[in-house]
Amino acid sequence: MKFTKLLALLLVVVMCFGMFAACGSKDEDQNKDDTKVIKMGTNAAFPPYEYKEGEKFVGIDVEIANAIAEKLGMKLEIVDMEFDSIITAVNQGEVDFGMAGMTVTDKRLLEVNFTSSYATGVQVVIVKEGSDVKTPDDLTGKKIGVQLGTTGDIYACDDYGKENVTQYGKGADAIIALKGGDVDAVIIDNEPAKAFVAENQGLVILDTEYAVEDYAIAVKKSNTELLDKINDALEDLTTDGTIDRIIAKFIKAE
Ligand code: GLN
Repeated sequence: MKFTKLLALLLVVVMCFGMFAACGSKDEDQNKDDTKVIKMGTNAAFPPYEYKEGEKFVGIDVEIANAIAEKLGMKLEIVDMEFDSIITAVNQGEVDFGMAGMTVTDKRLLEVNFTSSYATGVQVVIVKEGSDVKTPDDLTGKKIGVQLGTTGDIYACDDYGKENVTQYGKGADAIIALKGGDVDAVIIDNEPAKAFVAENQGLVILDTEYAVEDYAIAVKKSNTELLDKINDALEDLTTDGTIDRIIAKFIKAE
């Protein structure tokens, strides 16, 4: 009798432990789900794709990324960094993806995977009003300002020689250099170019486009699961018109 009682007690104790353990793990899972964060690496100095209004990150990429995160049932966290550091941050797992008006290039494709493209970018040339630079061909022998590590930087070095190119950490700093006469032209993506020209009197964008490119999201090569999930989300957001709506909100038709 005593033995049976002891056995029953032991059974109760074991069951309680089991229940606690089960509850514990359920709670943990729930917590994880509630706070599942997806991190985006960007350079928030690239209007209208990503920039800051006070402390808040805003722009086309920010809104598309939020819509993607929502589709994945996750919470978006934005990590602001130099444009040139984004691919490294993606590969080191510091962020889950990079989204920064980032152009798909063959060289970058060796380092990361890109999702399908969600927008088109154009490299343009900004000069001072009245400049003798009228087309990209006139840039030969001129001093060119670019943003470090961007396609504008890469193409300008290839086409006009590294010695003629000055690299700035931010596009806005290249614009200051142009206004101050340190460089004769700035090569940068068309939408930020429009924003910079609107903010700074006496600057114009050349009519001739320098290069047309595709923007996409960078994901670590080994993380094909996330790549597929983002591509699915992008497809849905394209089909239901969300991407067009977000782009139209920030880029007014001319
Ligand atoms: N589209 C350009 C690139 O990918 C510039 C991007 C940026 O400066 N954020 O290099």
